[in-house]
Amino acid sequence: MHCRSWAMKHKNIAIFVPHAGCPHRCTFCDQRTITAQQTLPHGQDVVQICTQAFSEIPDLSETEIAFFGGSFTAIPQDYMLELLQAASPFAARCSGIRISTRPDCIDSNILTILKQYHVTAIELGAQSLDDRVLYLNERGHTAQDVYSASALIRENGFELGLQVMPGLYGADVASDQRTAEAVCRIRPDTVRIYPVVILKGTRLGELYESGVYRPVPFAEMVRCVSVWCEMYRTHGIRIIKVGLHAGEFVAQNAIGGYYHPAFRELCESYGFRCIIETGIARPCISKQDVTVYVHPSCISKAVGQKRENLRYFSEKYGIRLRICPDENVRPAMVRFAGEEPENERKFL
Ligand code: SF4
Repeated sequence: MHCRSWAMKHKNIAIFVPHAGCPHRCTFCDQRTITAQQTLPHGQDVVQICTQAFSEIPDLSETEIAFFGGSFTAIPQDYMLELLQAASPFAARCSGIRISTRPDCIDSNILTILKQYHVTAIELGAQSLDDRVLYLNERGHTAQDVYSASALIRENGFELGLQVMPGLYGADVASDQRTAEAVCRIRPDTVRIYPVVILKGTRLGELYESGVYRPVPFAEMVRCVSVWCEMYRTHGIRIIKVGLHAGEFVAQNAIGGYYHPAFRELCESYGFRCIIETGIARPCISKQDVTVYVHPSCISKAVGQKRENLRYFSEKYGIRLRICPDENVRPAMVRFAGEEPENERKFL
């Protein structure tokens, strides 16, 4: 069982179906490495996983059973129904079933079936909304498929999630920015941002090793994702994941791209740096010792990994920066010493 949470109380009982239903391999994908699972589960495995999870999770009101790692709606229908029938009695006792699938594998018939089995949330692996990038990464669908499937999912009352993968072969900052803007226009309920991780043994790995594919530098991707996170937040889109989850297999098999066990924290640290930098530009702020207050849960993000933000302000401005905890400052905000709480500044 793999329980994951994206909010204090939310839990996913993740059941992986690596590559089930996938018509082919996309250039970047190796679900057996990403999910650390080689085989497909059967109905009895689903029952066993759910039974164990339900005995361990005290509050099931914000718990979902999640089928991830394949193209759920494209798997042979007998097998898909076997999984859904096994999960459905459990789903009735928690907040439902979440599935991930391809944008070109959604139609009214399949949505009717999913509804019958307590599926409440559908995530589409959109990856990019640039047709050229989709083509170069052998996705086998177009941006229009994402728009059409998103609309149909919405019309049928499901929660809509989009997964995007900046940094793919053929993408650049501008095309990924256009994708982020398009996602904001679609306004899904949730988004997962997976900056590309180049895995050994994939087509993308070959392109990388031959020098044909050169992803943008790591620091640039952190800066961009930080900006896109802020865009999504301001459009009311919940960000439930940033960066591929830290797994032993992924760490061993990543040969490039943007694997980091705490990618989201890197982006949030960059966000804190930006608001502090904007703040110190004001004439009223001392240019020697600067004290800022952040919520206690944000201290490490504001300081930065390996004290990176403190070093940045010291080297660039000669400023000795002190980050102090204050319960009254809201998360993702900062207050400069001597300022009232209403002058708090938010990320970017
Ligand atoms: S990205 Fe999605 S559709 Fe493509 S191979 Fe991986 S799981 Fe299958």
